[in-house]
Amino acid sequence: MDCLFCKIANKEIEAQIIYEDEKSIALLDVNPLAPGHTLIIPKVHTDSIGAMPEADIGPLFLTVRKIADMLDDAFRPEGFTIGINQGPASRGGIEHLHIHVVPRWHADNGGSIHSIVHNPPKESLEEIKKKILNESH
Ligand SMILES: [Zn+2]
Repeated sequence: MDCLFCKIANKEIEAQIIYEDEKSIALLDVNPLAPGHTLIIPKVHTDSIGAMPEADIGPLFLTVRKIADMLDDAFRPEGFTIGINQGPASRGGIEHLHIHVVPRWHADNGGSIHSIVHNPPKESLEEIKKKILNESH
């Protein structure tokens, strides 16, 4: 498969890997937003959380916590932004699930998750809630 992250997981392409276990790898983002900006990827190709075997989701997020602890020790940031770009409207061309862990500082010129998207709904929260609950039953 012609997937950059599969090739990194298979050690066909070099990356700055800072952690690896049976099912996940953590590597430094090649376009870091901050010192220590890391990507956590499952070794087996998947394009979304929803496509993952349920048993693999918990361990992947344990790796996220481990990486945040490692970055905390190394850089002493004042916070983290942790996020996933999932689906064609969200991501930048890479279809292998990856979780960004970005160390944050008060003076890093960044915003919160709320600064990423500017598409507030026209419906009320009650209408939105009704739509979600009706369509998931
Ligand atoms: Zn892949």
